[in-house]
Amino acid sequence: MKVDLGGDLEKIRTEAKKEIESAKSLKELEELRVRYLGKKGEITSVLRGLALLADDVRPVIGNLVNSVRAELESSLNQKVLKIKGSELENSLKSESLDVTLPGKSRKTGTKHPLRTTLDAMKEIFVGMGFSVVSGPEIEWDVYNFDMLNIPKNHLARNESDTFFITDDLILRTQTSSVQARHMQLHKPPIRIISPGKVYRVDEIDSTHSPMFHQVEGLVVDKGVTMGNLKHTLETFFERFYGREIRIRFRPHNFQFTEPSAEVDISCFVCGGEGCRTCKNEGWIEALGCGMVHANVLSMCGIDPVEYSGFAFGFGLERIAMQKFEIDSLRLFFENDVRFLEQF
Ligand SMILES: [Zn+2]
Repeated sequence: MKVDLGGDLEKIRTEAKKEIESAKSLKELEELRVRYLGKKGEITSVLRGLALLADDVRPVIGNLVNSVRAELESSLNQKVLKIKGSELENSLKSESLDVTLPGKSRKTGTKHPLRTTLDAMKEIFVGMGFSVVSGPEIEWDVYNFDMLNIPKNHLARNESDTFFITDDLILRTQTSSVQARHMQLHKPPIRIISPGKVYRVDEIDSTHSPMFHQVEGLVVDKGVTMGNLKHTLETFFERFYGREIRIRFRPHNFQFTEPSAEVDISCFVCGGEGCRTCKNEGWIEALGCGMVHANVLSMCGIDPVEYSGFAFGFGLERIAMQKFEIDSLRLFFENDVRFLEQF
């Protein structure tokens, strides 16, 4: 079989160079590169034909193929530079700069309503002498449960309520774990708040989410009473809502406080007369609190005879929902700009 690879090659070379020269866009050049030099390109198919040649001519033609390929590559690259250059020149010519036009304003986001609420809370508590303390979200069960007087068989330790990582490592279910850590390392007087994310096994709906935020507060000193607790919360709410607020304690049961109470505040909209916000009750459920359990103080190395303390725990979402009249907790986490821009 007679194969004239030399002739084929010359034909390819001449045609390719002509087409490269007349190409007008980078896209066209890329197509030519594929057609001639690509895996299924014409030069490559000539290379395949080499196998049919006699041993003595094969290296000669082989060299020729390589030199044609190199030549076409360099023509392509030069032409690419040339087109890029003229494109730049054209765009410089066509885009003249009008310095009298107004500048483009860059759109900045807004603070997330949870962040706004937390910042306001922090400012008030820091103003009252509290420090802001944080702790790990992945927590030993000892700090999340045992040190807070929650026994091994307690319901809250169930796998249906708590995200377990290992048998003794969990996603914290409450920011109270930070209290235990802080009391272990610091002697009274203690006055801290610890805001942060907490996790519980829950389906997401308008009032529940597997991740939400708490703001925990703790005060330990000599002679701390429930009266101090009430005054602290009253002062906080009056500053937070900018009006007079009354506080009501309802008895409750938390493991790490004794006595424990749920706190209602007089409605910050109507002042207690009854309105849509308080569902005509005049009162709004606000948070849980109590006097730190003697067991908790002892386990953290603080003498419960000498010292006493109180603790309270806000749900950040609940406070933000009340303050901004938001009816679904989901809105906080959906990142819908139309919602977020309202704050
Ligand atoms: Zn009201």
